[in-house]
This record gives sequence, C-alpha cells and structure tokens, in this order.
Amino acid sequence: MANEKTKGEQLKEKLLSAPKSAFEAVSAAELKKAKAFAVDYIGFLNAAKTEREAVAESVRIAEAAGFKPYAEGKKYKAGDKFYKVNRDKAVMFAVKGKKPVAEGVYFTIAHIDSPRLDLKQVPLYEDSELAFFKTHYYGGLKKYQWMTIPLAIHGVVVKKDGKKVNIRIGEEPGEPVFCITDILPHLGREQMSKKVTEAFPAENLNLLIGSAPFADEKVGDKVKLNVMRLLNEKYGIIEDDFLSAEIEIVPVAKASFVGFDESMIGSYGQDDRVCAYTALRAVLEAKAPEHTLLCVLTDKEETGSDGNTGMQGDYVVNFVNELADAEGTPVYKALANSKCLSADVNAAFDPNYPETMDRRNSAKLNYGVIITKYTGSGGKYGTSDASAEFLGFVRTMLDKGKVVWQTGNLGKVDFGGGGTIAKYIAERDVDTVDVGVPILSMHAPFELSSVTDVYMTYRAFAEFDKK
Ligand code: MN
Ligand code: MN
Repeated sequence: MANEKTKGEQLKEKLLSAPKSAFEAVSAAELKKAKAFAVDYIGFLNAAKTEREAVAESVRIAEAAGFKPYAEGKKYKAGDKFYKVNRDKAVMFAVKGKKPVAEGVYFTIAHIDSPRLDLKQVPLYEDSELAFFKTHYYGGLKKYQWMTIPLAIHGVVVKKDGKKVNIRIGEEPGEPVFCITDILPHLGREQMSKKVTEAFPAENLNLLIGSAPFADEKVGDKVKLNVMRLLNEKYGIIEDDFLSAEIEIVPVAKASFVGFDESMIGSYGQDDRVCAYTALRAVLEAKAPEHTLLCVLTDKEETGSDGNTGMQGDYVVNFVNELADAEGTPVYKALANSKCLSADVNAAFDPNYPETMDRRNSAKLNYGVIITKYTGSGGKYGTSDASAEFLGFVRTMLDKGKVVWQTGNLGKVDFGGGGTIAKYIAERDVDTVDVGVPILSMHAPFELSSVTDVYMTYRAFAEFDKK
C-alpha cells in the first residue's frame, strides 16, 4: 500500500502538464546522436557566416546528398531531389512527394541573414593617420557588443568590368582581423552617464583597417592610399568598386561547445542558421515523402523580409507556381492545401533577466523545440497567429515522433517584441506556425543554443510529413 499514489497524485498526473527536459525525456543513445549532430552543425556555422556563404555551403551539402539544380519544365517524379538558388542569397531545396502538388507543399522556411555591420557605399577614409571603413548596422543589435572584438570582412565586390570578387579575410590562422575602438574607462565618464541607446552612436561604428602610410611626400591621406594599394594588390579592386559591393563585417570567434559539460553551443549567427541547418538536414534525409517538401533558406528577415530575396518577395510562390503548373494545377490550390513550419529562433528564459520574461510562457534551454503560436508585439500586432487546429496537428505530429517540445513567447507583453517570416507565408493561404530553437543572448556576436534543443528541432522537421 505504501507505494500507491494518493488520489491527488493520480489526478495531478492525469490532469496537469508536467514538462520534462530532454535529459529526462530521452535515452543516452539519443543524447549521443544529438552531440554528433551538434558537431556537424558547428562545422556549418564556421563555414557559413553570411547569407551568401550559407547558400553556397548548403548547396554543397545538398549536392553531396544527391540534389540537382532545378530544371524548368522537367517532369519530376516522387523522391526526386532538386534545388533552386535565388541571386546567391536565398535557396530552395525540394523533394517531390508521392502526392500531386495540388494536395499541398510542406514548407520549412528559415532565414540565413543575421545581424551584422555592412559597409557603406563610400566606406574608405582616413582620420588622424588611421584608415577606417564606414559601416551601417544591419538588423537589431546592441551596438556596444560589436566594439573591441575581433571582426572579419566577408562579401563580394562587382568590378567595373562586371567581374565578381569574393572577399573573406580575418577567419584563417595568420590572417589579420579588424576592430572597432571604444573610449577607455578613464575618459568614459560622460559616455557612461548616458543611456545605452545614446552612448554608442551608429556613426562611431567605424572599422579600423590600417595605420601605416604610403611613403610619398606629395600625397595626402597616405594611410588610406596604402590600404587601397593593398586591397588592389590582393583583390584587384579600386575605391570606386565599393559602389557595387556587398561587404559584411562579422565576428571572428569560431563556433564551439560551451560549458564544462559541453551541453551548449556558442556562435555568431545562430539566429537563424540553426533552423536553416536543422531544416536542411531534415529535407536532405527525407525519403519518398507523401507531400512535396520545400525547405527555403531566405534572406533579409532581420530587416523586414523586403526585397527580391526576402519572404515578402514572390520568389517562393513563383517556384511553387512552376511546380503546380507542371501538373496542371492552379498555384492557389496547392497553397491552400500547404503547411508551413516557419523555422526561427525564440528567446530562452534567462535567469539573469527574469523581469523581462513571463516564466510560465517562456521557453527553457534543453526543453526541446519551441512551438510559438504568435509573435508580434503589444496587442498581438503583426502576427499571423497560428490556429488551434494547426497547433493540434503539429502537437500530435511531435508527440507521435517522440520529439521533446515546448511552447515559447518573446518576453512579457508590452516589453518589446518581434516578428518572423510566418505572416508572409500565412498570407499566401498556408497554415503556418513558428517552430525553432531557444536562444540566449539572441542577436549578440556570440549567441547560445543547447545541443538537445538543436537536435530536437531537426527531429521536428524530420517528422513533418510522417503520418
Ligand atoms: Mn530570426
Ligand atoms: Mn533575429
């Protein structure tokens, strides 16, 4: 009789929810798989620090898994794997399903752009015998976090003759790195008495790139000239070529395991390359799905999804239109039957800042993939708000697949907020919900995720089309 549960205990077990962390919920063997997956993921993060690099690296991985470039007009059959690149900054990976496209496409959509500093169009100048690049920050970031840390330069320059030059410097051992200065604390009294939003002006985010002059008495701006000379020798570019360039400044720090127990992953750009990589792996490993799978890695999410490589653009719908057209189906029918996991990160509960989050509705590290019903801000503005029916579908799918999952919320109501691409695909008449990984220090140069959550997010995507 001693071991028998009381009425209250029985009732509690039956009626009340009891969230379990991945460490309690899954076997040691599965935790081992999660660790192995994280090793691959860390490799991806180090290879793909910009949206262009993420496209190139995912195409490389996909081709190794048998994916071929999409051929217009080709009749695809069940199990065929193909991809289409959009302007080197976004990419779509498809696996043709057994069912016709008219019965719906299963989308997983993540973004591969991350907060960073972009060079301005006229970036190069000299001041007080130091050479700098002017920058304009991209996405929502805390400016002070980008000062006094080693930074690398990545990007492309299109020269006057139309030739494209790739730049990637600051990543390999032996290469120089770059940096933004900050005033010493001894002289920072005025700066430190200001509000953080005012203490670090955007126009002070100038990248220090040189201090040695070109030895010639007759010219001014000798340091600038010397830097341009070196750039010309290395890349064959002249100052005017910056007019047609996209150059991004990103942190040098390599992705690595974090903690004595190596249970976490620290890296730049996990928002949202963590969902990009997990969604990609799931679609690469898909075998003969029922519905056509379409994994989209998109650009420009961090600045509002505008433009022809962002999710407010038409490129994804146009691609579905082509697939539907090939089967004589109007695209709207295909879309109306489609489902989408909008794959993006959400905030993990941070015990150092509990005042910003609602404990009862925040995601926790190691409690699995997050299902976020709505994003937006105050009064649910700017969200597509997934339906109870679609959440029911997702919940059943995750439980059947024994995926560890939790719900999430971006902080306390009226404390701020933020959106994802979910609404842009939902507006196309597609059932959509946000799914993703809990992150600490989101948008910082070094963001944190957990090994188990990354793996559970991959498992969630892999379950999407299973009945
Ligand atoms: Mn994101
Ligand atoms: Mn973001």
